Amino acid sequence: MTLQSFGVIGLAVMGENIALNVERNGFPIAVYNRSRDKTDKFMAERAVGRNVKAAFDLKDFVAALERPRRILVMVQAGKPVDAVIDQLKPMLEPGDIIIDGGNSWFEDTDRRTKELEPAGFRYIGMGVSGGEEGALNGPSLMPGGTDTSYEYLSPIFTKIAAQVDDGACVTYVGPGGAGHYVKMVHNGIEYGDMQLIAEAYDLLKNAAGLTAQQLHEVFSEWNTTDELNSFLIEITANIFPYTDPGTGIPLVDLIVDAAGQKGTGRWTIQTALELGVAIPTITAAVNSRIMSSIRQERIAASKQLTGPSGKWGGDTKEFINKVRDALYCSKICSYAQGMALLNTASSTYTWNLNLSEMARIWKGGCIIRAGFLNKIKNAFNENPTLPNLLLAPEFKQTILDRQAAWRDVIMTAAALGIPVPAFSASLDYFDSYRRERLPQNLTQAQRDYFGAHTYERVDKEGKFHTEWVPITEAKH
Ligand code: NAP
Repeated sequence: MTLQSFGVIGLAVMGENIALNVERNGFPIAVYNRSRDKTDKFMAERAVGRNVKAAFDLKDFVAALERPRRILVMVQAGKPVDAVIDQLKPMLEPGDIIIDGGNSWFEDTDRRTKELEPAGFRYIGMGVSGGEEGALNGPSLMPGGTDTSYEYLSPIFTKIAAQVDDGACVTYVGPGGAGHYVKMVHNGIEYGDMQLIAEAYDLLKNAAGLTAQQLHEVFSEWNTTDELNSFLIEITANIFPYTDPGTGIPLVDLIVDAAGQKGTGRWTIQTALELGVAIPTITAAVNSRIMSSIRQERIAASKQLTGPSGKWGGDTKEFINKVRDALYCSKICSYAQGMALLNTASSTYTWNLNLSEMARIWKGGCIIRAGFLNKIKNAFNENPTLPNLLLAPEFKQTILDRQAAWRDVIMTAAALGIPVPAFSASLDYFDSYRRERLPQNLTQAQRDYFGAHTYERVDKEGKFHTEWVPITEAKH
């Protein structure tokens, strides 16, 4: 019996598309799904004429694979991954490789690595980005685990990943849960990008009064620029002219304004808090989805809570350009936060992440793919120990040139009562980062006042405590 080169467990959206991608690139595959119907459908439709062996129990699936077995698990993150590993383990032999390609929490990946590798198995936790289309035609892949295990996978992953001018959108990320961590931060950045675009849209529509057609033209034009050219701007431009066939109204205007989320944005914030890294733009993006989701409460509140309204009174073209500048400056701050988080995670967990490479592998295949990532790649190439992207010469100059427009847009939004939480959080990040002295001297004084937490002084070394007012014991 000829054996297959690669196995995929889980034939939902991601699994079936990545399986076809692997096969198309010359690697015969074996597939297995817990419930038989998905496998039957796959074999009867998309797998016809392809080098695919279907298995209906795990034993047959494992037996169909050449050694060391390379098995991609593409199932729901969490307990299902443990369930699949537990079933697989007794059937595998030392050296076999399990790859978890789902959105797993990085600490789960660390735990699974520690459970599996001492038993002689190899374990790779791999972030996969690009959704259905990316999985089929070329995703961005973020594999983490033992580097020697990755060597067995690199020939396949290099072929199936998205290809850009400087190579395949895959690289060995780092040990343990590093790959899943990087994918999680990628998703956090994606939340930030989407919220910033939503705020630009809100301003252009509700402050400048642009029609759907005009919004389409503005975003299409932005997509031709060096700084904003990206997948998310492109799909935004494509969304506006789509009219609902039943009503003739732009479909976007008929969609309920309550955004869903699956949790990777929240995870990014949780780990940033744990590591003590400020990511206010990404936090604002997650909070904005939460605020959007209390729709009925907002509708009721809108009838009671008044505030300013109205339109931008000046030149429309000038306003559009200011919003573009505000969007770009905010985006730089958002990526500065994401990269700072990766940097701290890398040193905390000793992952030795190459930030330039992380930006490079996001250039294609994934949701945040953008020309702008080339600038980030170059910035970390030129200075791998750059403490913050805001200090890279190109970004520094961009913000210095455009900050007046950025501030104007935020002031206009406040004057018109249009919320721009991610634009504002980004500007606050910039202003806090560039500020030599922040008001936390007062915070320290307060902490010392009520809790004797002590403070340091700018004029002498040591820890100090002051009895700010005499403390007297209450009399009964
Ligand atoms: P999904 O909806 O997250 O999961 C469905 C798959 O998981 C089905 O094959 C299902 O099998 C299997 N499954 C669930 N519980 C199981 C268990 N206890 N034992 C064995 N199999 C089990 O699928 P998906 O959207 O393709 O995503 C797969 C992974 O990729 C997830 O971690 C997801 O977060 C991640 N991801 C998704 C996207 C995306 O755009 N969808 C993008 C990037 C990453 P049955 O058919 O038997 O129910």
